[in-house]
Amino acid sequence: MKRRFKYRAYPTLAQERWLYAELKHQKKLYNYMLEMRSQMWEYGSVSVSMYEQINPLSKLRENSHYSEHPQDLQVSTLKRLNAAYDNFFDRCQDGKAKKKGHPKFKRSVRSVTWSVRKSKVKDKATGTFKRVRQKPIRKTGTRLDRLKVPKLGEVEIRRHRPFLGDPKEVTLKKTARGWYCFIVCEVPDTLKCVPKSACGIDVGTYDFLTTSDGETTPNPRFYRTAERKLAKLQRVLSRRQRGSKRWYKAKDTLAKQADIVACQRLDFLAKTAYSLFHHKGFDAVVAEKLKPSNMVKYRYLAKSISDASWGMCFDWCDWVAKRDGKHFHQVPPHNTSQTCSECCQKSPIKLKLSQRVFHCPSCGLKLDRDHNAALNILHRAACALRGEVWDAILYETRNPLLQQACWG
Ligand SMILES: [Zn+2]
Repeated sequence: MKRRFKYRAYPTLAQERWLYAELKHQKKLYNYMLEMRSQMWEYGSVSVSMYEQINPLSKLRENSHYSEHPQDLQVSTLKRLNAAYDNFFDRCQDGKAKKKGHPKFKRSVRSVTWSVRKSKVKDKATGTFKRVRQKPIRKTGTRLDRLKVPKLGEVEIRRHRPFLGDPKEVTLKKTARGWYCFIVCEVPDTLKCVPKSACGIDVGTYDFLTTSDGETTPNPRFYRTAERKLAKLQRVLSRRQRGSKRWYKAKDTLAKQADIVACQRLDFLAKTAYSLFHHKGFDAVVAEKLKPSNMVKYRYLAKSISDASWGMCFDWCDWVAKRDGKHFHQVPPHNTSQTCSECCQKSPIKLKLSQRVFHCPSCGLKLDRDHNAALNILHRAACALRGEVWDAILYETRNPLLQQACWG
């Protein structure tokens, strides 16, 4: 399993200038190699592989400006291009994909990546040589440690927590509010625990999350809160002369505000996912298999659905479960809020979104709409685990009177 650790980086002005030049060079290299691949295919029907582009790189570096830039970063750029092509080929093979999406030319590159090299180290006890991975960070014993960047030197980073496992890859990224360093480490897989408690979760725009125990998490609506501020900044930007100094200044301010909203959302989702497994203590969490990209097409709710970002929440639940040896499942979403969780009868009248209480006409159950849905999701997962088909058999399995009638 791979884990990524994120730290804040503080390059000096001169280092920042070097990094900007590097980003520009990597962008040019990416576009150049992309053009080469597409032209080779267009005119000669020749497919160029990643190694056919990496191998001539050393020749290209002789007596040219290419040698001024670190080879590790150039190789990573070519790997990135290859990954884009691999995804494109996957989409071509997949019949369901609507858009094939050929890799595009990049307008800008925001990050540089390099892999941490191994070096030969002599073992003093046995006298033999071993290949040991170099340390990407130098400890200083002060508040700021130093990150080793190829050809540039050392950049100050704030290592607020130690990384675990074997560091393999380092990325330096420029965001609207500064530079960040990511260290990807190889960590041993965690064994899955035997689930002793489970909960179903129903996500919505009214309450962000309702568990099958009836607990709710309010929807923070980060975008809605910042919407007026963002609109004002956008208005300022549109009034300035495009390309002028003041225009760039306004653009930066807007980007910073948008970044704040994104970070707030990420923080909230990560903490919510963590609290489900650790603070509330569930070993297994079950959610619906929603397709937010399709739901966004319903234009009256599009902004609220995008703001809630349920897909990201499920991704985080999946990741936390994988990391800590817990379980996360997703079940089909149809009719979870239209079915009674007590007697499993589907409501004859479709419940409107504004109706917050589910009232069952057949058994008289009155329950909060989302709580009812969360219970249904949990039952649905339990049935799937037992190998039952939900709609047909569930009514009998959950109704003890009918069970007696069926089984004598
Ligand atoms: Zn009922």
